[in-house]
Amino acid sequence: MTKPLIGVLALQGGVAEHLAALERSGADARPVRRPEELAAVHGIVVPGGESTTMTRLLDTFELYEPLRERLAAGLPAYGSCAGMIMLSGEVLDEGRKPPAVRPLGALDIVVRRNAFGRQVDSFETDLDFAGIPDGPVHAVFIRAPWVEKVGADVEVLATVPDDPDNTGRNEAAGRMVQQGPVLATSFHPELVGGDERVHRYFVKIVQARLNTAAQA
Ligand code: GLN
Repeated sequence: MTKPLIGVLALQGGVAEHLAALERSGADARPVRRPEELAAVHGIVVPGGESTTMTRLLDTFELYEPLRERLAAGLPAYGSCAGMIMLSGEVLDEGRKPPAVRPLGALDIVVRRNAFGRQVDSFETDLDFAGIPDGPVHAVFIRAPWVEKVGADVEVLATVPDDPDNTGRNEAAGRMVQQGPVLATSFHPELVGGDERVHRYFVKIVQARLNTAAQA
């Protein structure tokens, strides 16, 4: 069985934490900054950070089109927080015209940036997820996006009570979503040391793709 090689988009944001979590989850992991590096990987992680900056850097590094094309061709991908924004189909960003984020369109979701307010509104909570065994996952939210709409092909993997954080909104739809081989979380599992269940879930998706390709 080939060990999956998973890239972490390394233009900005929490790259090292994802590389370490992927390695601990049984994948080979390496940073991706160039089109040649992107071409070599079996899956890609788009980390948290700042989606406006990431949009600009994707252009500067001439990675936007190659990445969009590989995603359109079915490359497995996982985005956390800003990564979820980048993988989405549409970004709602109050007060910004034209929008400063150009999402890659790998997930049929509409997200709202900074939906939980300013930096001080960042929070942590324990959540149950369908497909993630052994109890709740500790989820860290930092100026997280909100999933406002999901398309018919998008699976919502969160099983949370209504309004667990007392924000006045039902955000059950917003925590973890999957569409085919593309996964996204509005929180940062890479920041919780010693719990790689979300990364293992993604590595399994990439491994399954590799096995299918090997049989074809
Ligand atoms: N607020 C950031 C953005 O809009 C995301 C924050 C994060 O990745 N922790 O890109």
